[in-house]
Amino acid sequence: MKKYILTLDEGTTSARAIITDKSGSIISVAQNEFTQIYPNPSFVEHDPEEIFTAQYNAIKEAVDKANIDPIEIAGIGITNQRETTVVWDKKTGKPIYNAIVWQCRRTAEYCEQLIADGYEDYIRDVTGLKIDAYFSATKIKWILDNVEGAREKAKQGDLLFGTIDTWLLWILSGGEIHATDYTNACRTMLFDIHNLCYDKKLLNLFDIPESMLPQVYPSGHNYGNVNILGHTIPVGALVGDQQSALFGQKCFYPGDVKNTYGTGCFLLMNTGNDAKSGKNGTLTTLIATFDGEKPQYALEGSVFIGGAVIQWLRDELKIIKDAPDSETCAKKVENTGGVYIVPAFTGLGAPHWDMKARGAILGLTRGSNRNHIARAALEAIAYQTDDLINAMSADSGLKVTTLKADGGASKNGLLMQFQSDISDAVVHCPDNAEATAMGAAYIAGITVKLWNGKEDLPKDDLVKTYTPKMENTERFILKNGWSKAVNAVKQFSN
Ligand code: ADP
Repeated sequence: MKKYILTLDEGTTSARAIITDKSGSIISVAQNEFTQIYPNPSFVEHDPEEIFTAQYNAIKEAVDKANIDPIEIAGIGITNQRETTVVWDKKTGKPIYNAIVWQCRRTAEYCEQLIADGYEDYIRDVTGLKIDAYFSATKIKWILDNVEGAREKAKQGDLLFGTIDTWLLWILSGGEIHATDYTNACRTMLFDIHNLCYDKKLLNLFDIPESMLPQVYPSGHNYGNVNILGHTIPVGALVGDQQSALFGQKCFYPGDVKNTYGTGCFLLMNTGNDAKSGKNGTLTTLIATFDGEKPQYALEGSVFIGGAVIQWLRDELKIIKDAPDSETCAKKVENTGGVYIVPAFTGLGAPHWDMKARGAILGLTRGSNRNHIARAALEAIAYQTDDLINAMSADSGLKVTTLKADGGASKNGLLMQFQSDISDAVVHCPDNAEATAMGAAYIAGITVKLWNGKEDLPKDDLVKTYTPKMENTERFILKNGWSKAVNAVKQFSN
């Protein structure tokens, strides 16, 4: 009778609800966008109450569309945009400030000061993170420092902090459950990823009372019951979006890698029980586990401009009509004719870490045309991913033989084949593009025993597989060209 899982997939721009069954099929999806608030050019906020409403309405719509009785829902999984920070009053349930979104740069200067004060090594060793405004700690501090009376209230134990998973769970449980999971906690820059507890020295540094912080559990855990549409349903998973996609892509073993090809790319490599230190600008992050399991880790890195380079061809250069047209154009030529695009529009991320770098098209000849440029843009997405894979392999000592792809640009067959060729790895693309939602659904389903463990999860029968077809010499020559192009860009910009 209990045969469905309800997943709340709370992203940066919308809240979605997805109902899946035991075969892994999606029965219904509903989605509501919420407002992006920009009080000034470097501030990004959301209204936490609007997020809750958008999420709850999506749940109602998804249940309606699926035409099921909520009593048939075996469990709930929540996956969310990570780092985004909500602080609310425990007594009134009202946020004392808007949610400060992960993209918000308001604490960047303070982070530079922390680096100048020599905290970099300590924070990397304890939390696995690079000091950055991205993570929750400095956002919480900003709220306590800037909202009148907040610090006194926090000291009296009247305020609570949560990322969006925690906020949703707290409201859904009628203010009973104040909890998060390792994958979210490890993005606060307050959490000791080795000892699985908040770090006292960091709480002191940021002047954050521990009483504000949620209890932390593995992603797969019985978090307690919530009331949904008049029915009591257990929450069996909380998990940050990227770690959810890693689980949804079934990257269960050390060396397994997933890359989400969206506007940017998010790459995670499972490193098992070993917390490998990312020396080349990658982060060390906790991944989804269940009660009683040892902690597991991943290296994480991102490409700033992934699918966005295709949007740039469409919107600024106007040489393709839509994103799929990039493939049609690229297929009209056999190769780029020596053209490379380095899309360093906002600097270069890991492993290059050059924030001053700016983009370039190199190797143009009189015969270069838009097809060569479209092809070079797609290849650039793959080269940047390959640079990250190589950095992670060096840091972890694990060779990457398989890459699992999801996200909008993973629909591009030419890009996927080139990725396979250039990284000399098999690339799998699941037909079901909902890796993030499926991760939380699988974890919740295992917790509430809809499935008896990872081995019992539904098979992904519709997977497109790309195998490497390129000769080693060609790969070597192409990668050498990319590396020269990146160096030229670095030299030009510095
Ligand atoms: P996000 O979640 O970051 O919004 P999506 O996963 O929805 O991203 O993917 C959108 C991105 O993928 C866009 O940048 C778009 O240019 C790119 N994209 C979508 N379809 C294709 C395609 N067929 N070929 C190349 N890029 C594509």
